[in-house]
Amino acid sequence: MLTVDIPTHISPSQVSQLAQCPARYLLGRAYPPETTPVWNVLGTAVHTAIQAAIETGMPFDNTIDLVKTLIGEYDSASIAFQTRTTKDNLVATAAGCVETWWDQVHPTGKNRLPEYEALGWPPQTESRFNLPGGPPVVVILDALYSTAFGPIVVDWKTGARSRSRMLQLYIYWWALRQSGIAKPEHRPRGWFHHLRSGKLQPFDWYPGDAVIQAQLWAADRTKRAGHYDPQPNDFCPVCQSQPHCPIFTGDMTDLDAARKAVRWVQLERNAA
Ligand code: SF4
Repeated sequence: MLTVDIPTHISPSQVSQLAQCPARYLLGRAYPPETTPVWNVLGTAVHTAIQAAIETGMPFDNTIDLVKTLIGEYDSASIAFQTRTTKDNLVATAAGCVETWWDQVHPTGKNRLPEYEALGWPPQTESRFNLPGGPPVVVILDALYSTAFGPIVVDWKTGARSRSRMLQLYIYWWALRQSGIAKPEHRPRGWFHHLRSGKLQPFDWYPGDAVIQAQLWAADRTKRAGHYDPQPNDFCPVCQSQPHCPIFTGDMTDLDAARKAVRWVQLERNAA
């Protein structure tokens, strides 16, 4: 029998997914594709290698070996490739992301960016915040630096684009404020670091707690009300839920079945 596990908590990625297309959020859980999107494979391997380098002091060559090993654990037939990241360039792309990270971020990097030079080493990795007020929210940060001027939050990106939606960093800053790490006098500071292009996308403005809380509540309401309507957008051409989406099939059967099969699940450790 079909059951669709929906977490009771909200995370930044859920806020983005639900805002982009609520049907995709539900259908992806109800009918998981047989293949893993290549960006998941790449992102997981690169983040795991970077985290190991920071936490264990692993040297450069071993970090590159690690990311190659992690990619090699996937059967390429189980990966959904895309035009820019193909079967032939996946390993090189992953190694390239780690090389750029090392070059621009690591204290031994030859082209360390001034933004990192001013910070201490190592940053705190995978900082996790469970925030129960309002809808329960779980936030996990790639890197958190403590400075005399307040915290700096960094998110390493492995996608092909050099721009990401700032909402993710705003939610991170909201979490730092809720947990008392970012004080009212601290200026919001941080950036996305796009490892394919080597470009930083900084944020130094924050829309305010009320705006972010409204977004979190909106995501929570969508889930609780079961409003999983399809919302066509520029992701549709590569959406793996197309075979179940009424926009493409003209048939509501799969979406209706998924709606009826929702089962609420409490937070699991390491879930996001
Ligand atoms: S194909 Fe488009 S409208 Fe349909 S679920 Fe995917 S993203 Fe949503």
